[in-house]
Amino acid sequence: MHYHTIIIGLGGMGSATAYHIARRGQRVLGLEQFTPAHSNGSSHGHSRIIRQAYMEHPSYVPLLKRAFVLWDELAAHSDEDLLHLTGGIMIGRPDSDAIQGTLASVREHQLPHQMLDAATIRQRYPALTPSDDIVAVYEDNAGFVVPEAAVRTHLRLAQTHGAELHFQEAVTHWQANPAGGVTVTTAQGVYTADHLVITPGAWAPELLADMGLPLRVERRVLLWFAPIGGFAPFTEPNFPIYIWDCGDGVSFYGFPYHPSLPGIKVAIHTVGQICSPDSIERQLQAHDVESLQNLLRERIPALLGPMIHYETCMYTLTPDEHFVIAVHPDHPQVVIASPCSGHGFKFTPVIGEILADLAIDGHTKHDISLFSLRF
Ligand SMILES: Cc1cc2nc3c(=O)[nH]c(=O)nc-3n(C[C@H](O)[C@H](O)[C@H](O)COP(=O)(O)OP(=O)(O)OC[C@H]3O[C@@H](n4cnc5c(N)ncnc54)[C@H](O)[C@@H]3O)c2cc1C
Repeated sequence: MHYHTIIIGLGGMGSATAYHIARRGQRVLGLEQFTPAHSNGSSHGHSRIIRQAYMEHPSYVPLLKRAFVLWDELAAHSDEDLLHLTGGIMIGRPDSDAIQGTLASVREHQLPHQMLDAATIRQRYPALTPSDDIVAVYEDNAGFVVPEAAVRTHLRLAQTHGAELHFQEAVTHWQANPAGGVTVTTAQGVYTADHLVITPGAWAPELLADMGLPLRVERRVLLWFAPIGGFAPFTEPNFPIYIWDCGDGVSFYGFPYHPSLPGIKVAIHTVGQICSPDSIERQLQAHDVESLQNLLRERIPALLGPMIHYETCMYTLTPDEHFVIAVHPDHPQVVIASPCSGHGFKFTPVIGEILADLAIDGHTKHDISLFSLRF
């Protein structure tokens, strides 16, 4: 069987790409080394923040607006509890990267928002205890998606549109054929297609070794705590998603209560150990809990209750923490995507649309110049 496109990796990005290519009537084969919506990569852990006011760079905002439209569509086609719009706050000192970056994006794109001083933050969200020198930018267009539900829904819709998806089938080799097209090899078979999309997550350094991209894979730990005093102050719609810039390059983030687990999820964004998918320490280490509790003590003391669950995950980071999405420089029939750096999931549906554009049309109307092969 010959395909229009083969996709390597059916995590967050690959599952969305399979759907967007298949819905345009093209014959797709997706190859995934693990089971659907597994927890070995980067797209698990029950929640991912989505937001539009984007401290990382104002150029992401048009993509986020499109992503929000596609999240709504996906949620409407899902039989799972996929999308939660809770509002969101970015917290820090007025001169912090979080506040300055968020304000730059809301000003450039006229995004609706409110500035909150420390007293207002404490009054609106009694679980949060910022000191008087802290402010927040609030926006309504923020919340979280359930990543496993998003992956499952994209996979199911892709299959509905005729995509062929193989699980527990690792790709051992891919090559671009000199006469055009690609050949992809697994232990189970050899497949050919006109185009190849490679969405390998933390396996990118391995699968894209020929490109020498300066990608760094790092371990992150997600923790769930039983709050002291109960769940009420953390329950939707009274509690938002938040990212708290603590200064000195350290930030952590968290979510409202979600009934999938009897705890409140919170995690450090900025600090982790370099690893690979083979070498990552999956077990909890004492410092994982201590370093987070040190940040929570002055800021959200109710979360110093018992830790009830944890999961480990991998960030795949570029040096400037912007994504890489590009046509392979030597093989125009191959598209590669490493949209992580710890903030990629909220873009999943629009990246699926972009990768489908690149595979089918060779170009996209979305501005992806920030994600070029710039290293
Ligand atoms: C702890 C954590 C918290 C995060 N929080 C947020 C957040 O709040 N908001 C946000 O927007 N983003 C967040 N992110 C980032 C976001 O989750 C990632 O950008 C996104 O999951 C990356 O998706 P992916 O498809 O590139 O990788 P993955 O979902 O890991 O998919 C890659 C897939 O490729 C498969 N694969 C690799 N090699 C092969 C092979 N040889 N053969 C077959 N299959 C292969 C893997 O098995 C995997 O399924 C977070 C990430 C982590 C780790």
